Amino acid sequence: MDKILNYINGELVEPKSGNYLDNYNPSNGKVYSLIPDSDKDDIDAAVAAAKEAFNTWSKTPKQERSDILMKLADAIEKNFEELVKAESKDNGKPESLAAHVDIPRAPANIRFFAGAILHDSAKVHEMDGMAINYTLRKPLGVAACISPWNLPLYLLTWKVAPALAAGNTVVAKPSEVTPMTAYLFSKICIEAGLPKGVLNIVHGLGSKVGDPLTTHPDVPVVSFTGGTVTGKHIASITAPMFKKLSLELGGKNPNIIFDDADFEKAVSNAARAAFTNQGQICLCGSRLFVQKGIYNKFREALILKTKKLTVGDPKDSNSKLGAVVSKEHMQKILDKIALAKSLGGNILTGGEREILEGDLKSGYYIQPTIIEGLDFDCEVNQEEIFGPVVSIIPFDTEEQVIEMANSTKYGLSASIFTENISKGHRVAAAIDSGVVWINTWLLRDLRIPFGGMKHSGVGREGGFKSLEFFTEPKNVCVKI
Ligand code: NDP
Repeated sequence: MDKILNYINGELVEPKSGNYLDNYNPSNGKVYSLIPDSDKDDIDAAVAAAKEAFNTWSKTPKQERSDILMKLADAIEKNFEELVKAESKDNGKPESLAAHVDIPRAPANIRFFAGAILHDSAKVHEMDGMAINYTLRKPLGVAACISPWNLPLYLLTWKVAPALAAGNTVVAKPSEVTPMTAYLFSKICIEAGLPKGVLNIVHGLGSKVGDPLTTHPDVPVVSFTGGTVTGKHIASITAPMFKKLSLELGGKNPNIIFDDADFEKAVSNAARAAFTNQGQICLCGSRLFVQKGIYNKFREALILKTKKLTVGDPKDSNSKLGAVVSKEHMQKILDKIALAKSLGGNILTGGEREILEGDLKSGYYIQPTIIEGLDFDCEVNQEEIFGPVVSIIPFDTEEQVIEMANSTKYGLSASIFTENISKGHRVAAAIDSGVVWINTWLLRDLRIPFGGMKHSGVGREGGFKSLEFFTEPKNVCVKI
């Protein structure tokens, strides 16, 4: 059985305790590899290696850092097929999705920041011929980069690339639920010649590895993407240590369809926003508000479209949905569907676990599910489900839908479908969320600062904001 290893100081190493955890393939529910059950000792070794490497890496010319990162991106592409298969096997998502979204985004992330660091610039503020002020930006040291299981390599590289480009060294902790692509990435780093200690990857449980990493005195900066509860915990233990912290957390994103929307575009985007990656994307549109003039027609079209989505073997190119990430997560989603029913929700389609045949019969599959008839402020419409479940809610007016859309504690993203450009801009400005799409969903420009409002996060990552986050500004005032 494959054994995943930690990547510390340029080498693949066993956890110091010698203990391992089982790694499951969600498509068939079977254990297929072992993951280091790392602890504080492994984190200490990784941080020490990163601290040592920082001395050289932070002084390495930007062009050289950029060249090395570009090599990493090329090496990911050389190993594309292996990474696609690994991501699908580890996470349960269709291979076609991993091949179109997750894996291509990893080299794109790395190339973006490898380029950005060469083109960054600083402003000068002149004081009427008396003085000039400028800002130097210095890397912070050892950065902790903690990523979730839903887009494992995509979100790992989204953090690691700007941290390294800016001259920091990194200790990364991928989710223990999906460690395989991070492991393959560590092998790629070795092959591509990343200097030892610059990136370290420690696998293991959040509870055993996370706290020693985020509270380590030699780690001044923490970039975390994951659930709001974990984010709150990290904020509570790192704030007294005055660490720099970025939190990309959960969402309960509204998708608002006005009567005057381009109907076909709105229906297909609503299905995409609800069910892509089995609904396990922080940006998924899980609350679907549809204006009453088109509500019935829209509902029927969406049901039809959803029934055509094949839940199946992630290896099969016809499968639009694969397995959800784990048995525990599947149960959590099924419990939320049961809760929806108990609150008076009507299941328009789906609502059940899907049992596939043969070797896949123990896999964690859930039918894409549409629920109608729930109040906008009930628990199901307020809390993240993070599965292939969407709640459809009719509305009358613009004011009413803005109020309902803003009613949750989250504020990550929103979509608005209307052919009235003024209304689109007006509603976008009124919705509390870090990202608003008009007439589309999940169209990302890597230059745009990304993040959430309210309980969806603190800080923005993406574009030059990430380079700012991973550096300390030092202002210099020169009397002239
Ligand atoms: P979790 O919060 O459970 O875990 C995220 C990461 O944090 C994992 O690597 C986890 O490790 C680790 N972790 C757990 N406990 C600690 C701790 N005490 N200290 C440090 N790290 C810890 O989230 P999920 O993995 O379940 O991911 C899904 C969540 O992520 C959803 O809420 C989703 O909305 C959110 N998300 C947000 C995004 C955004 O950009 N805003 C993007 C993608 C997802 P382990 O898995 O080993 O427990």
